[in-house]
Amino acid sequence: MKVTVLEQTDNTLQMRVEEVRPGLINAIRRIMLAETPTMAIEEVVILENQSPLFDEIIAHRLGLVPLKTNYDQYVVSSDCTCEGVGCHLCQAGFTMEVEAPEDGFIATTGDLKPQDPEVVPVSDKIPIAKLAKGQRIVIEAYARLGIGQDHAKWQPVSTMAYKMIPHVKVDTNKCDGCKECVEVCFRQVFEMQKDKAVVVDEKNCTLCNLCVETCDVQAIAVSHDENNFIVTIESTGALPPMTIFEKGLDVFRKKYEELITLLPGRVPKVTPKKPRAKKKALPKKPKKKKEPKAPASKTKTKTASKSKTKKKK
Ligand code: SF4
Ligand code: SF4
Ligand SMILES: [Zn+2]
Repeated sequence: MKVTVLEQTDNTLQMRVEEVRPGLINAIRRIMLAETPTMAIEEVVILENQSPLFDEIIAHRLGLVPLKTNYDQYVVSSDCTCEGVGCHLCQAGFTMEVEAPEDGFIATTGDLKPQDPEVVPVSDKIPIAKLAKGQRIVIEAYARLGIGQDHAKWQPVSTMAYKMIPHVKVDTNKCDGCKECVEVCFRQVFEMQKDKAVVVDEKNCTLCNLCVETCDVQAIAVSHDENNFIVTIESTGALPPMTIFEKGLDVFRKKYEELITLLPGRVPKVTPKKPRAKKKALPKKPKKKKEPKAPASKTKTKTASKSKTKKKK
């Protein structure tokens, strides 16, 4: 596999990936969507909710907030020494206490106070609830590592797409300069130069063949490579797109090695594990008080749609 970066920003990455079968690139796409772990809010404790939204709606909205993820700091809670109860090694806490100073005040992700400064919402402008003057929301929330296969909130990409590399050729000897290909191509692949159509942005072509059908003198030929692709990754902001790609390849490699061990007579190649960066000490989460009689609105809510909702008595 040969990879060339074509364009890169904080949240997007376009690459040319060559010498790879379509099945393999699709497997990597699916792994990036469904099996690359990220942090997302999994548990919300509602201490006070005077907003017009149900507790579960607020919890659901919080769950879908993309959070910046640091792999080296956290372990999946099911693999943690706390056995999934939740501790500073496997979860990051947030608190939020807002009271609307005026009608129409919008509580946003900027009101979430993170326990770990490295696990924060990707934007502080995501609305959570609109409040009337004096209405309050007080919550605690806990984010954990998870994968998109379990819930879409753990998906690190909003888009991961690939297309076969297009080739567009114009036979200038046949071209009569009618400009129809320039008008019909919605991806601005052609330009007129000296009364002839020329290809100016070949990689933008979607292989729709409209130009071929439009050109009356058959001057245009459109084809594509079978094993070379243009891959576009758009991150939610949880991870840099290159990290998502690298992590996707890493998960693929582990799956491949696991498959090899299942073949009869094959000895698996042992890959040395990358040492985990030392966990920096975080302030201990304050113990939740056990109150004999909690307020009627105190609700502990799992943000995943399949999870049960518990009302604390
Ligand atoms: S449609 Fe065909 S003939 Fe017309 S400008 Fe394009 S290539 Fe030339
Ligand atoms: S195949 Fe479609 S996208 Fe590609 S150059 Fe022709 S009209 Fe444009
Ligand atoms: Zn733990």
